[in-house]
This record gives sequence, C-alpha cells and structure tokens, in this order.
Amino acid sequence: MKKKYSIIIIGAGPAGIFCALQANKRGVPGEQILLLDKNKRPGAKLLLTGNGRCNLSSDIPPEEFIENYFEKKKFVYPAIRFFGPKDLQLFFESRGLRLKKEGEKIYPASDSANDVLASLENCLAEAKISYLGNTEVCRVSPLQKTTSNDQASFEIETSGKSTFSCDSLVIATGGLSFPKTGSTGFAYQLAKNLNIKLVATNPSLVGLIIKKGQADLSPLAGISLSNVGVELCHDRTPPSLSPHRTPLQMGKVIARENGDVLFTHDGISGPAILNISRYFAKNRHENMALRLKLLAHNQFIYKAGCYSFEDYLDKIKEESPGKQIKTSLQSIFPKQFLTVLCEEQLLSKEVLHLLQLTHEQIQNENILSIRDNFNNICLPLKDVHGFGKAIITTGGISTKEVFPHSFESKKYPRLYFIGECLDVDGKTGGFNLQFAFSSGALAASSLAAAVNNP
Ligand SMILES: Cc1cc2nc3c(=O)[nH]c(=O)nc-3n(C[C@H](O)[C@H](O)[C@H](O)COP(=O)(O)OP(=O)(O)OC[C@H]3O[C@@H](n4cnc5c(N)ncnc54)[C@H](O)[C@@H]3O)c2cc1C
Repeated sequence: MKKKYSIIIIGAGPAGIFCALQANKRGVPGEQILLLDKNKRPGAKLLLTGNGRCNLSSDIPPEEFIENYFEKKKFVYPAIRFFGPKDLQLFFESRGLRLKKEGEKIYPASDSANDVLASLENCLAEAKISYLGNTEVCRVSPLQKTTSNDQASFEIETSGKSTFSCDSLVIATGGLSFPKTGSTGFAYQLAKNLNIKLVATNPSLVGLIIKKGQADLSPLAGISLSNVGVELCHDRTPPSLSPHRTPLQMGKVIARENGDVLFTHDGISGPAILNISRYFAKNRHENMALRLKLLAHNQFIYKAGCYSFEDYLDKIKEESPGKQIKTSLQSIFPKQFLTVLCEEQLLSKEVLHLLQLTHEQIQNENILSIRDNFNNICLPLKDVHGFGKAIITTGGISTKEVFPHSFESKKYPRLYFIGECLDVDGKTGGFNLQFAFSSGALAASSLAAAVNNP
C-alpha cells in the first residue's frame, strides 16, 4: 500500500533539507515529512561549494543583499527578508557550527563544507524527518480533488516502482549545473508535463574560453589580476592581423563587472568573469569580446603614498628619470603578463614603443595613451564552459509561475518550487546558497500553515 505524507520534498540539497527542517520547526511532525534524493547521502553539491570550504552567504543587510540577483531583486526580496544572512548565521551557530567571515563572505570556521552538511544531517535526524536516499523520483501526478479531506493532492513514483502520496509537494531538485551531483533538470521535465512556463536555461558562474588564433594567451595560465574592470562587448571587428582593437572598433557593451580575474589554460575566470558569464550564453549568436580595464579602478602605492596612475609614474620619474616605463609597470603587473601583452600585440604599436622609453623621454599625453590602452585590452571570446563546470544555472521555472511570498505554484495549489530549479541566479559570494536556504524557509512557513490549518 502506498504511504501518505503531509509533505514530500524531492531533492535533498540545501533548499530541500532546509525546507524540511523549517516545516518541522513550525509544527509539522518529522514523520509527516518525506525527503527524497537520488543520492545515498543528501547535499552532494553542498560538499563541493566554495572549493570544499562552503561560502554560505555574505553578511550584508537584505536591502543590499538583493542587489546581487540581477533582474530578480524584487522577486527574492520576501525570502531574503524572511530568512536572511543573520538568520542563517544564528541557525548554524546555535547548533554548534562555528562560522567566520572573510570580508563579508561567511564560511564555516573549519573551512569544511562537510561540517555544514553534517550539522544539517544532525538536525534532520533530531527532527525525525524521514529521509529516503538512493531514490529517484521519475513521475509526479497531481490528483483530482474530491470533497474528502483525507485525499492526497499528489502522487509520486520512484524508479524503484515505489509510490507515495502527499498533501503538499516541494520540488527542490536543483538546476543543470554539475549534473554528476544529481541535478539533471528534473524540475524542468516536470514543468513541461504540467504546462508550467520555463525560461531557457544556460550555464553561469563559469569561465569563458578565449578565441585562439589572434593571440596565444596560454602562457598566462595561473596569473591573476585584482580589481579589474571587465566589459562584455559585441565584437564587430573582422579578424585582423593585430589583436589590438581601438575602443571604436568594439561594439556595444552588454554587461560590466569589476573584480579579480584569473587566466586559465584556455581562457579566463575569477569572480568578475564568473559574474559576467551569464550574459555570454544569452547573446551567443553575436561575436563577443571582453574588454579588460586594467587601470580603471586601481590606486597605486609608491613608498608611503597612494596615487592615480599618472601621479604614480610622476613619482617614479622624480626619483628615477632614467628608468624604462616597462620596468616601472612591473611593480603593477606580473612580468610575464606584460611580456605576453607586448609579444601578442594586445597593445597598440604606439604604446609598445612608449613602453621601451624612459620616464624622462615621455610626455604627459604619452602617459594618457598608455593608461587608455591598458584600459582597453580586448580579448575575442570563443565560448563559455558548459553545465559540467558551471556553478549555477540561469533560467528555469519562470518566477511568474510561483508566488514570491510562498513559492507555491499559481497553477497547482500545494505544489512548491524552491532553490536553483527556479529562474533565479545570484552572483558569486554565497548568494546562491542563501537563496536556497531562504526559499526553503519561506516555503516551509506556507507549508506548515497549510498543515496546521487544513
Ligand atoms: C562547484 C560548485 C561550487 C559552488 N559553491 C558555492 C558557494 O560557495 N556558495 C554558494 O552560495 N553557492 C555555491 N554553489 C551553488 C550552490 O551549490 C547551489 O546554488 C545550491 O546547491 C542549490 O541548492 P538546491 O537545493 O536548489 O539544489 P541542489 O543542491 O542541486 O540539490 C538538488 C538535489 O536534488 C536531487 N534530485 C534531482 N533530481 C531528483 C529526482 N528526480 N529524484 C530525487 N532526487 C533528485 C539531486 O540529487 C540533488 O541532491 C556552488 C555550486 C557548484 C557546482
């Protein structure tokens, strides 16, 4: 005989686990909640987060926090306000998990994602929530309601041919990124079957691949640069002999970011690139390039002072007029980076020449040319890495299909979508985990209200 639960939650990632715990905290008995996952242990992806260190969230107020969700700021606000970064910290610390901050970013003090998961698993066990691992749900059927109060609203079937029914069903099956962790787009298939609108999915928070041919940047692999302005642009330039582009040769700017970048064996990554990557796939039909603004946001330290680029070069000139400009720039950029910029002609001919001169040989307008050129390093892009390497999925269940105050489906009462399966993606910095936890918590309050007041 199939067993009936008040709440079934498909997917035991952070969103599903947290939804179960918060529903229990609000009065739903653990035995009445069934949490299912295709993996034996819950939280397979959680273990990989933050390179195994788990960047849980960022300690900033909700009003500022929501700025990190691109065009979904308004949609996520009720959830982040309901259960924000401070609530998450309190939750873990009150259960004995010590946390620490690196800047605004919150991590477990042990630097171990496993400790975060272990803490959640302990909570599940204490709450006596029924957990069924190694269980893949393959079918969900909404049931016709009769007048009987006992009748379930949904029936689910597993690949092992077990069936369960429930009053409320929560879909917390994640997106498509890192499919080896179990997130393989189940929510999207279900949405298609139920005629629920989907927004096209794409990989995001992922590295970009640089077009080979014009410039060989592979010797830069492993080099990182801090505080770089990054612009994703249309690239209207026909392939030319020189990879250098004047600002006029570049097309419209699609998106801007600022932060650290890291060169990889086939392209470029780092926080600024991860955050801009969501726009690549959406504009894939165009030729695109990255413009790096290497000097746009920086202040330069010389002895005890902090200077603009122009004043910084002036200071060096006062003390070492015979020093070569290229040598002075080596205290700003790694030597190997400058060598590749010059050898691969990412700088204009004029600037390549100026770098060979000494401070006393150049004029103020030459310094401006150097600055402008270093703020216009253009890298033609080939592609973005796929879901196998992406931290998050953009697109998914349309946010228009659910109520932002509960995540309940507008078409199917008592069906909920939470976490990454929704068309919500945040920047790097703990914003995606926080949304998973916050959406789970907010849905739980609605679920508990329905159970407590049938
Ligand atoms: C490498 C990596 C590093 C990351 N680092 C960070 C970070 O430091 N900070 C941050 O904020 N975010 C990070 N993220 C993103 C974060 O992990 C996700 O946003 C978050 O895990 C989403 O939670 P979720 O519960 O919605 O989905 P998931 O964690 O994907 O969980 C979904 C679960 O559903 C299960 N499932 C799927 N289909 C079925 C089915 N049919 N039947 C049964 N079970 C099913 C899956 O097995 C899976 O366990 C990272 C992601 C990756 C890939």
